[in-house]
Amino acid sequence: MALSSPQVWEDFFKRYYWESILELAKYYPEKRSLSVNFSDLERFDSELAREFLEHPEQVLKHANEALSAIDLPADVEFTNTHVRIVALPERIQIRELRSSNINRFIAVSGLIRKATEVRPKIINAAFKCQRCEHVTMMPQGEGKFVEPFECENDVCGRKGPFKLVHEESEFIDAQKLRVQESPDDLRGGEQPQTLDVDVDDDLAGIVAPGDRVVVSGILRSYQRSTQQGKSTFFDLVLDGVSIEIEDKEFEDIEISKEEIENILALGKDPEVYKKVIYSIAPSIYGYEEVKEAMALQLFSGIAKALPDGTRIRGDVHILLVGDPGVAKSQLLRYGVRLAPRGIYTSGKSSTSAGLTATAVKDEFGDGRWTLEAGALVLADMGLACVDELDKMEADDRSSMHEAMEQQTISIAKAGIMATLKSRCALLGAANPKFGRFDRYEPIAKQINMPPALLSRFDLIFILTDEPSVSRDTAIAEHILKAHYAGELSVRRTNVIGSGIEMDEIMKAMEVIQPVIQADMLRKYIAYTKRSIFPIIQDEARKQLIDFYLGLRKQGEDPNSPVPVTARQLEALIRLAEASARVRLSNEITTEDTARVIRIVMASLKQVMTDPETGKLDSDIINVGMGKSQRVKAKTLREIIRELQDEYKGAAPLEDIISRAEESGIKKDTVEDMIQKLKSAGEIIEVSNERFRVV
Ligand code: ADP
Ligand code: MG
Repeated sequence: MALSSPQVWEDFFKRYYWESILELAKYYPEKRSLSVNFSDLERFDSELAREFLEHPEQVLKHANEALSAIDLPADVEFTNTHVRIVALPERIQIRELRSSNINRFIAVSGLIRKATEVRPKIINAAFKCQRCEHVTMMPQGEGKFVEPFECENDVCGRKGPFKLVHEESEFIDAQKLRVQESPDDLRGGEQPQTLDVDVDDDLAGIVAPGDRVVVSGILRSYQRSTQQGKSTFFDLVLDGVSIEIEDKEFEDIEISKEEIENILALGKDPEVYKKVIYSIAPSIYGYEEVKEAMALQLFSGIAKALPDGTRIRGDVHILLVGDPGVAKSQLLRYGVRLAPRGIYTSGKSSTSAGLTATAVKDEFGDGRWTLEAGALVLADMGLACVDELDKMEADDRSSMHEAMEQQTISIAKAGIMATLKSRCALLGAANPKFGRFDRYEPIAKQINMPPALLSRFDLIFILTDEPSVSRDTAIAEHILKAHYAGELSVRRTNVIGSGIEMDEIMKAMEVIQPVIQADMLRKYIAYTKRSIFPIIQDEARKQLIDFYLGLRKQGEDPNSPVPVTARQLEALIRLAEASARVRLSNEITTEDTARVIRIVMASLKQVMTDPETGKLDSDIINVGMGKSQRVKAKTLREIIRELQDEYKGAAPLEDIISRAEESGIKKDTVEDMIQKLKSAGEIIEVSNERFRVV
């Protein structure tokens, strides 16, 4: 039995929403929406609430009629208000939408992947008959623009022609959005699905790509049309009625009281670091340092807003560079599983938005510009794991600096000017261009990444695949154990009477079993990020400063390279904050600083040691070439210049080599450096083995 009517709604509004309506009247017409909590409707009348879910179109119409007809004490009249139902208790997963949901009121949660610009849409078109001047009003629905068939005027009745009169037509702001399932709702590497949403009037323009939202509305279906005509398949579109933006960190992860007790107990455990490290990628053997760094990245430092308006990121960026087949991709996949809001993608990215964001004009926007979020925007407040970072697009490369340091992505293209948020940590993996990592080549060049970008990483690890009997044996045994456990388990599930006991499987699984289950670890991380904000103690501060100054001192001698820059100091602070968080501590102590100094040194030694002098040299990362190399390059250029003057043309290779040898540069190095200078465009080969400085 139908219950809804404007009267019922008026009654509801007066009893439950009178205050809110008076408030709305104060700000009308700037504000036009009344948010109604679904639970209030249920409390008022559960039958009405149910009717609303099943016949939303009709019931919402009653609600809107009742609201605009309501008698207000003030001198205001509502003519253009909307009732927006929010906070539905149940949300449907986008992938689970079925035909039975069509024309029902539903709520979905997810990320805004794309949003068009806000543009006017005609809702009531005025047509003037060119013969009799009569104006016919034509209400416009979704989709095709409808024109009058014949003139409304009885005495005329002709079939036009008609002219659209803009001044007498009614327009409304409209926007189209694409919502993508939240990565946290996906299990086991499923591809996220999307749903398109139409919003209008004051609902248009309130969200940006990357926002986490709950969108409620009426699910509609539109017939697909192909070149052969209409199809029997229909597409789903949500007619948006309300949008709730979830902007608090991890409010989507629920932690029960009992779980909090477990978390607090784990925090007190003296073995907590070990336990966390052994819970990261247990099926991957070794890499304790990398795993420890990944652990700190998951817990993350603290983002700070300074009074002058600047913001310092708390997220830790890590880059894994290395030979193929050393489990880089596997480590990344693990990172995604553990991080709240983790996203895995490849630099070669399948989507047009790439890693950052893009503005395009395509069919989605029907001629409007669309802003589309890439991985770093979708991973806002989470972890972006980007594999094959060396293969990223040129467009991304230029916006990555801003994305990593300021954690925003600005887009200024055509009509679109937007700044999207990318407050995420980046865990990247890169393969060297020539297959294997070469210690004597600058990293920047090997992975095709500008030094300025490379220097934004707090930690870089080089994973090389050098054969070593002891390590190889250990890895081989570990891999075989993992496979053996898997084999047992598959046999037991598939063969009846296999005789394999669960105990046996559990025992075999032990080596690859995380100490803390992934689900629990995610909650542990979410909890610390929500509630633990440690502060550095004097002793710890002193230790960091001493360490930094100690390293810098080595650079005081003008002939020495600059070993570290302030960037490394910032990295140390962020990591120390994360380290304190792991044991739920409100204080950063020397225990934390000692730990992070060890990790940072391990990374620095790998990436910033000049292989020729054995000294730390920050230029290897920041400039792309160590000091000893630069000095040699300079000497070589001088030699070539001298020779080209002497020969009044170009310098022959033999002479360059013999003069360089006089200055103590070996023949191999000379040939190598000449190739480098040539490809850097600093010298040219005029003819065979004859060079000139540019
Ligand atoms: P990459 O991305 O570095 O090229 P992958 O992540 O694809 O390498 O790893 C290749 C395979 O080798 C994976 O199946 C991985 O499990 C295995 N593997 C490599 N190193 C190890 C290790 N240390 N422990 C266990 N498995 C490993
Ligand atoms: Mg890989």
